[in-house]
Parts: sequence; C-alpha cells; structure tokens
Amino acid sequence: MYPQGSKNYQINFSGLGCWLTVLAVVWLLSAIGLGWIVKSIAFIVVLILATPVLAYLGFRWWLKRNLIEGNCPVCETQLAGLKNAPTVCPNCRTQLQVTPQGFVRFTPEGTVEVNAVDVTAGDRSGDAVDVSVEVLPPVDDER
Ligand SMILES: [Zn+2]
Repeated sequence: MYPQGSKNYQINFSGLGCWLTVLAVVWLLSAIGLGWIVKSIAFIVVLILATPVLAYLGFRWWLKRNLIEGNCPVCETQLAGLKNAPTVCPNCRTQLQVTPQGFVRFTPEGTVEVNAVDVTAGDRSGDAVDVSVEVLPPVDDER
C-alpha cells in the first residue's frame, strides 16, 4: 500500500516505455534475422539528414562552375549570370550572352559585326568604332 510510490513508478515507466519499445523492436528484428531492416532505416535516416547538406554543397559547386561575373560590354555595369544563358543588362537593356570569358553582346542570326574605322579624323585613324549591322531576312511577298 504505497500509492505515492506506485504512481512514481508508473510515470517513470511511461517515460522509458517509448525507448524500451524501440529497443525491444530493434532487438526482436535483429534476433529473427531482420537486422537489415534496422540498417536500412538507419541508412535512410542518415540519407535524409545528409541530403540537404550534399545538395547545398553540390549547388555551391555547380554555381561556382556556372556563375560568371563580369562587366556589361556596353555600359560596364557589373553583372553576374549563368554560363551560356542569355541575359539582359538591367542598366542599358542590351541583350547579352554569358560566355566563360565574360559577357558579350548577344548577336542574333544575321547580324554582321563591323569594325568601322573613322578615317575623317586624320591622324587619329586608329580609333575603331563598333558598328553592328543587322541583315534582315528577305521579305516574302505573299500574293
Ligand atoms: Zn549594360
């Protein structure tokens, strides 16, 4: 007749009961040769815990390889972009192509880059002016 003591014993047991059940299940599974289930569950738990870390590291590695930083060739604004992806300069709205070497102006099919030399300036003829000439596709006359 120790009501106080029996109550304490019950509380302690219910607190340990959860872990005792887990241990009992683990022991039972390994005892009947199903230890691989425990190992698989442990493996899955480790995998779930490790996946975000690996994904983060992988993403950083990928970003380091693919993120190109450079200046806009037109207005010299500092830009960052993904390799081989087209982008638009937020400052001068120029269409740009990201290359491993940096940013270059995006030239659509049919654009001829011309390096024009200003010959009217006399002895300053060495200065080159970049001129972009777009060759338009022939217009189809549908009649
Ligand atoms: Zn720009």
